[in-house]
Amino acid sequence: MKKQLLICTWLFSIVLLVSCAETTINESNNAQACNAGAVRLIADFEASRMDECINQGNNTFVITIKPENTPINSSPWYAFKIVADQPTQVKVTIQISGNRFNRYLPKISHDMTTWRTHTHRVRGKRLEFNVDASSKVIYIAAQEVIDNQYYVDWAKKLQLSSAVKQSVLGQSLQGRPIYKIESHGNSKEWVVILGRLHPPEITGALALFPFVETLLANNSYADSFRQKYNLLIIPNLNPDGVAMGNWRHNANGVDLNRDWITFKQPETQQVHQYLQDLVAEGQKIKFAVDFHSTQQDVFYTMPVNYEVEDRYFVKHWLGSLDKTMPNFEVVQKPGNRPNNGVSKQYFSDNYQVHAITYEMGDETNRDTIKIIANNAAVTLMQTMMSGADHNKE
Ligand SMILES: [Zn+2]
Repeated sequence: MKKQLLICTWLFSIVLLVSCAETTINESNNAQACNAGAVRLIADFEASRMDECINQGNNTFVITIKPENTPINSSPWYAFKIVADQPTQVKVTIQISGNRFNRYLPKISHDMTTWRTHTHRVRGKRLEFNVDASSKVIYIAAQEVIDNQYYVDWAKKLQLSSAVKQSVLGQSLQGRPIYKIESHGNSKEWVVILGRLHPPEITGALALFPFVETLLANNSYADSFRQKYNLLIIPNLNPDGVAMGNWRHNANGVDLNRDWITFKQPETQQVHQYLQDLVAEGQKIKFAVDFHSTQQDVFYTMPVNYEVEDRYFVKHWLGSLDKTMPNFEVVQKPGNRPNNGVSKQYFSDNYQVHAITYEMGDETNRDTIKIIANNAAVTLMQTMMSGADHNKE
């Protein structure tokens, strides 16, 4: 009897070990557990995420969100839908594994297009809210859901209205296409625009779209800008992370914005190779912008005394943006982080030019994000076309 118990304990430990090992790579434990009954919570679409769900009865559900792997910064992503046979109120609690804090306020949508922040309570590290469920699907997510297909549709629209071409730059670890959109002028100089290295940083994506659209607008100013500078836009560099609803990493569990020095990940490696090929052909990387999100609106820049050309160029640009928007304070945070593997440092160290990390606040008003992006793109074009000496303050 004792021996049997020992064997059972041993087998149970093995099962536990195996299941723990599986959970380290984005394996859901019982994500589908609430996909049954008269009220259902379901995470079955691209970019959805719900690692555990417990139906406590009485239309009360407790969801647990887990990171793809650790260590990781606390940016818990969740996205799921709720549907009920009959109209009824549902009580949802979201808790984050590892006793971590929620970063994002819950957003709600009926159509995955229009989203608003949903009324909620924060109880310690738990997020609680009620949802009026019915047979009409309701989506709940940490931020607006912008999946891989969204980028494909967006690029299609861009190609209808401007002389850009989308093509495949390479493939992610799981074989998803990484797209690049290019505009070619009468030029050998390139402005590089990157996005979505960190999947949940949706406000960065919401800034990238209007920023790029302004650069690609059909007006004489933008036309002459695009004659003078080529554009390389890679709006979605982490399609695996987006599809899996990851908090931060790619499918290998690696932060792509720490990989711009070792290039161990296929996503960063292929961009690096493409840029190296351009340079080998006699082309020049002139400037780069990488779109992200954080707690507040901030522009991480390289210091003016860093060994790059046109050392005051970014200061001139962002100073001009600040003047253009009297009600918005442009916060510039210069920093030099050698060996850290962030993209802006990569551009400066490899091509001796400025680059910035363009960060929008997680909860910054969505219309404001658009206005800032439009103005940022216009002032960028003005600064790059002005003919001013950017080596002087
Ligand atoms: Zn980021």
